[in-house]
Amino acid sequence: MKKNKPNPARWGDATKLVRGGLHRSPFGETSEALYLNSGFVYDEPETAEKRFAGEDDGYVYGRYGNPTVTMFEERLALLEGAEACYALASGMASVFGALACQLKAGDHLVSSRALFGSCFQIVTAILPRFGIKTTLVDGKDMKAWKAAITRDTKCVFLETPSNPTLEVIDLAAVCDLAKTAGANVVVDNVFATPVLQRPLTYGADVIVYSGTKHMDGQGRVLGGAIVSTRKFKEDLLKPFLRHTGPSISPFNAWLLLKGLETLKLRVEAQSAAALRIAGVLAGLKGVTRVIYPHLDSHPQAALCRKQMTLGGTMVTFEVEGGKKKAFDLLRHLEIIDISNNLGDVKSLMTHPASTTHRNIGAEARASMGITDGMVRLSVGLEDVDDLIGDLKQAMGRS
Ligand SMILES: *Cc1c(COP(=O)(O)O)cnc(C)c1O
Repeated sequence: MKKNKPNPARWGDATKLVRGGLHRSPFGETSEALYLNSGFVYDEPETAEKRFAGEDDGYVYGRYGNPTVTMFEERLALLEGAEACYALASGMASVFGALACQLKAGDHLVSSRALFGSCFQIVTAILPRFGIKTTLVDGKDMKAWKAAITRDTKCVFLETPSNPTLEVIDLAAVCDLAKTAGANVVVDNVFATPVLQRPLTYGADVIVYSGTKHMDGQGRVLGGAIVSTRKFKEDLLKPFLRHTGPSISPFNAWLLLKGLETLKLRVEAQSAAALRIAGVLAGLKGVTRVIYPHLDSHPQAALCRKQMTLGGTMVTFEVEGGKKKAFDLLRHLEIIDISNNLGDVKSLMTHPASTTHRNIGAEARASMGITDGMVRLSVGLEDVDDLIGDLKQAMGRS
């Protein structure tokens, strides 16, 4: 046994991502073990009784917890500097769980309008069916937040940067308003990742993630997570999620746990490539607009630099000639794939208006600034010169 106990809270991010939450079995394996079991057994009936009474925090059943899932949860909580984390089957299970666990009929929710398609459905169609009143605001407009958040507001939900227009919301300012009103702030931090942006430091209460994106980062599994205080997890998340059952598979949690080990390395490399690509696109004929958080041309460039340590892995741009030209560009790509997924080591491009943001309708798209000539590029880990070459040749031919 090593004599000195480490203090993981003092580690740097890379160390936390590689070693945080590691619980070795008596076999002393190097890599985290995959506990692929649904049930647990007890030596004595009294042990089972104590666990069900909450007097012993051992495992009871896969829907309630699993050692591999716990390692993933502890690693992510450690990175965020949070007290607790609850892993779930997908990003959407996490978004829905984080909101539904705290809202009831008659409650008021305020949300930014520029949301991931399924988040928009939850806020505008699903929660209202259960009697929850929702108000949508332009996330960039602090006056709109101020007018919408009242003493009756129970919860605030926002995504920054937003998908696909990469709008950035002032986290500190919105959290201040919410705090004054006594409302919880839930932040979808998928685009920024925990490597580049820490909503808790600006006063957010809960962070939601799709592990499917950068955490896996290799297009293999679905997963999600909710980062919160211990009290939020014990009082609200556990009673709601344990009985509704959106549990993550231990195998998926294991892949996300291993994915976290290289998260910083990948996100930093992909962000550096994205910045270079954004710069090149800005000078390319036929490109009418490039949106990237760390370009000076971003409408909220100063806020982007304050909130995010790097600009992120996503670049959104507009081509002259609308949907036809956007489709021509996608058709002519040789390396970059046509895909609506993101955060992957493979570079992927999508046309939001006809895919991820198709169902919300033309009016909602217009209000979010999503045009027919807009494409969204998720920058991967290929040689950046190959990606630039591919974009140039595809633009030249379309
Ligand atoms: C993908 C995504 C989600 C949903 O995650 P899933 O794992 O696909 O359920 C939520 N929010 C944002 C911003 C996303 O990009």
